[in-house]
Amino acid sequence: MLVDSHCHLDYLTSADAAWDVTALLERARCQGVGHVLTVAVDGANQQRVLEHARRHANVFASAGIHPAAAASERIAGEELLALADDPGVVAIGETGLDYFHGADTAELQQQSFVTHLRVAARAGLPVIVHTREASDDTLRLMRQHADTGSAGVMHCFTESLAMARAAIELNFMVSFSGIITFRSAAALREVVRELPLERILVETDSPYLAPVPHRGQRNEPAYVSLVAAAVAAIKGIAVEEVADTTTANFFRLFRRAHPA
Ligand SMILES: [Zn+2]
Ligand SMILES: [Zn+2]
Repeated sequence: MLVDSHCHLDYLTSADAAWDVTALLERARCQGVGHVLTVAVDGANQQRVLEHARRHANVFASAGIHPAAAASERIAGEELLALADDPGVVAIGETGLDYFHGADTAELQQQSFVTHLRVAARAGLPVIVHTREASDDTLRLMRQHADTGSAGVMHCFTESLAMARAAIELNFMVSFSGIITFRSAAALREVVRELPLERILVETDSPYLAPVPHRGQRNEPAYVSLVAAAVAAIKGIAVEEVADTTTANFFRLFRRAHPA
């Protein structure tokens, strides 16, 4: 069984009324995907994320504000801590730093990131980190504020092997998306090859970043099977080993999540 460790179910279903979560989860199950983690990005989607986890035993939720929203939405630590109390919430985030999309809001992103890291440490929950073109600041704030016990995951990882290793030193996992199937991603495949499977998660980040052969179309949790197949091909191992190990990694990291 596989887990899609990062998707946005509410974006998938609101884009097309014909798609409901039950149908998406059924299609995922047909591809061996037993569980998904649906991720909060702002105040507007937070309640929908919690609702999906409430309704479906194999859906887990997070609580947080995406770095792209951090400039316009500030969340107090106490408020985030209260959200973390919801029984469906297994992680804090997504948070982090994205200077590709908003270098001008770096300071506000950093403040938000620190709030998330501190709340995650206090709640004993792993943190979901989004990082793009901000590796030095991301690692600096993680070293200062991340709890190496509850740790977290570098999601949709596209950075260097050195950065992946630095995150692993802080007890983090590294999650790969369909980007590893893109022809242009040879350097990233090298990162996959070098990292121990015990530190790897797989995700879709759907509705974005559909893996080959669906590139450019809408992504969905079922396609995490294609990401797992790509990891297996890169490492020269069986896809079953990738499925078993990444699923075990998921439940080891997200301790509040229990298999349905
Ligand atoms: Zn992200
Ligand atoms: Zn995301």
